[in-house]
Order: sequence, then C-alpha cells, then structure tokens
Amino acid sequence: MLDTLTALVTETVGDAAGEWDVTGEIPLGVLRGLAAKGVLCAEAKPEFGGLGLSGLDNAELTAHTGALCSSLRSVMTSQGMAAWTLQRFGDKAQRAQYIGRLTGGDLAAVAFSEPGAGSDLAAMSTEIRRDGDDIVVNGTKTWITVAGYADLILVFGRHEGGGAVAVVPTTAPGVQVTRVPEPLGCRAAGHATVQLDDVRLPAGHLLAVAGQPVVMLTTIALTYGRLSVAWGCVGILRACLTAVARHVTTREQFGKPLLQHQLVARHLAELYAAERTATLACERASAAWDSGSPEQVPASVLAKHVAAQNAARGAAAAVQVLASAGAVGGHVVERAFRDAKLMEVIEGSNEICQLILAEHAAAAAA
Ligand SMILES: Cc1cc2nc3c(=O)[nH]c(=O)nc-3n(C[C@H](O)[C@H](O)[C@H](O)COP(=O)(O)OP(=O)(O)OC[C@H]3O[C@@H](n4cnc5c(N)ncnc54)[C@H](O)[C@@H]3O)c2cc1C
Repeated sequence: MLDTLTALVTETVGDAAGEWDVTGEIPLGVLRGLAAKGVLCAEAKPEFGGLGLSGLDNAELTAHTGALCSSLRSVMTSQGMAAWTLQRFGDKAQRAQYIGRLTGGDLAAVAFSEPGAGSDLAAMSTEIRRDGDDIVVNGTKTWITVAGYADLILVFGRHEGGGAVAVVPTTAPGVQVTRVPEPLGCRAAGHATVQLDDVRLPAGHLLAVAGQPVVMLTTIALTYGRLSVAWGCVGILRACLTAVARHVTTREQFGKPLLQHQLVARHLAELYAAERTATLACERASAAWDSGSPEQVPASVLAKHVAAQNAARGAAAAVQVLASAGAVGGHVVERAFRDAKLMEVIEGSNEICQLILAEHAAAAAA
C-alpha cells in the first residue's frame, strides 16, 4: 500500500510545489482529495475510515511528501496530529465522528501557541469553560498551520484547573481566521491567527480527557507532531541530496566536474551523513512509537532535533553547491533552505529540544 500512496502523492504534486510556494496556496480541491483518500492521516484506524498504516510506513510517506513539498507535508503533519489527538483524547463517539470527518475529506489544524505562550505552552491562557450543556471558548491562537484551510481546529486551553481540547468548527460564530502574511517558509501551509471570541458549542465538542494537566496533553499531541516533522526533515535532506548529487556530476568548472573538487565533494559527503543520521534517529523513534514504548517521547525529541538541525545545515550546503543555479524562487534547494530553517523553530525549538534532552540525559545517568 505504501508504494501506491507515495505514487499518488508524486502524481498529485507533479511539478506544482514551486508554484504553490510562490502563490502561498495549495488548491483546496487537492487537499480535500488527498484527505478523502485517507492519505493525510494515514495511521487513522480502518474503523474510522482510515488506512491503518503503521507508524514506520506513515513515516516513509511523510518523508516522501516532505521531499516534494514541505507545505503539503505540513498539512499532513497537522491532519495526522489532529487524528492522533482525537484517538487519544476523544471518547468512542467523538473518535468515530471527528476522525471519520478527517478521513472523509475535512481538514484539521491543531492550536497550542498563543501570543504569550510559544515555547512555554504551560502559560497558555485560552479558556474552555462549561456553561450548562455548552462550552464557551475564548482566546487567541497564533501561527496555526492549516488554519487557513481548516474545517475543524483542535483548540488546547485551560479548563477547570487543568487543560482540555475543544473541537472548534471554523464556521462557528465568534471564530475569526486571519492568514499570516508572507511566511518565511512552508508558505502554502495555511498558517493563520485564530481569534476565538465567546465561541459557544455543544459540550460534545469537548474531548473526553478534559481536566488533565496542560503539559501532559500537549506532550502527548506533540510527540506525533515531532516525529512527523522529523521525517519531513529527512525528506528535505533527500531532496537536497538528489539535487546536489546531480549538479556536482553535471556542472564543470576549472575543466572538471564539481565533484572532483574536494571542497565541493565534502559538501556532498556531509549531506549524505546528515540524511543517514537523521534517518537512523527517526527510524529508532518510529520503532518506539510502533511498539508503544515510553521511549517514544525522548526518541521523538531526539529525532526532531537531529533531523531539523541536519536539514537546516544540509539545505544551506545545497544552496552553496548549486550557487546561482539554486538561487531562484521556487527552486527545490531554495525552498528547502527557507522551509528547513523553520523546522528548527516549530514543535519545540532547537533550544527547547536541548533542554528536554538534557533533562532526559541527567535523569538517565542518575
Ligand atoms: C512555520 C510555523 C508553523 C507553526 N505551526 C503551529 C501550529 O500548527 N500550531 C501551534 O500551536 N503553533 C504553531 N507554530 C508556533 C510554534 O510552535 C512557535 O513559534 C514555537 O513554539 C516557538 O514559540 P515562539 O515563536 O513564541 O518563540 P519564543 O517562545 O518567544 O522563543 C524565542 C526564542 O527563545 C528561545 N527560548 C524560549 N524559551 C527558552 C528557554 N527556556 N531556554 C532557551 N531558549 C528559549 C526559543 O528557542 C527561540 O529561539 C508554528 C510556527 C511556525 C513558525
């Protein structure tokens, strides 16, 4: 099945990724078409209309998509994280209803970040309050991937002394979605600010885990997101590796192919090492994910950290080697350079990953 899915993504993207990046838009019909085939949250269970892929197969699909188009891969990460959040935090009826919508063609975003709560998600102030048979949601969420396309937004917030997740339809009164103008990278991923003013919804929109600690809820959801972003970075590295390998064997300077200049060959060797080490870290994390091991949490942070740093360095090296040939808007290495930089910021920045890994290392040594 994996081969069929990767072929479908290849065919769907075709040569449009550069154009989507320049216009900042993936046609909604393309996204809905992939969603309706279950491709955007491929681990969702068949009982909810999903494809039931293993974590490792979904990872390879994510890397394949990331190599072609980081914006589409970002949509895949959000949709997959939404389905995972519903699977973990919803009751039976909520899973069937909402995961069923995602595998039926609807699109979903996941909203943690706020103006005053970026790295420090425990500082989030969005309020999800019960009012009789309803809930009422108030707050502002920033930089929410896919929000510009979404039908549903999974909003994390404060609830009765703990945390909670509300499933908010973007059509509900009081919801206002405003696109982020001119993002640095993943430009067609639909990033937006989401304003929630007295959004009143039936209590069935509150996922069943309500009241658990905010950090516990965000960590569980982000473990999926980190692993998915990490594999997206592997995809960026693979795309850069292909572009560089092709260029150094075909472009000649000083009477010989670039590959025969040792300083250029070193770039290729380092890029290869970056892709291989990122892949190994990701494979280890996906194995922990598939076996349900508690190691999946630190392994996902490690994979995301290694893969994002490798992708940012690798994409910069790719632009260096292609030089003027790659310095064109929408070119695969030019996009990679901008997209990869943002991977060092999201889903736990480099610094936040380092803090988590340092704590893990200290605890393991104690
Ligand atoms: C492309 C993109 C997509 C995104 N998608 C989503 C999404 O779908 N959903 C969502 O909820 N959010 C999303 N975000 C928001 C993202 O999660 C935040 O940008 C990220 O968590 C960092 O928060 P911040 O930008 O407020 O930076 P800040 O938290 O203000 O951090 C600024 C800098 O200080 C560093 N820093 C902060 N605290 C510490 C510390 N204790 N020690 C050392 N260094 C520290 C950070 O690493 C960073 O370098 C997205 C952002 C981008 C750019």
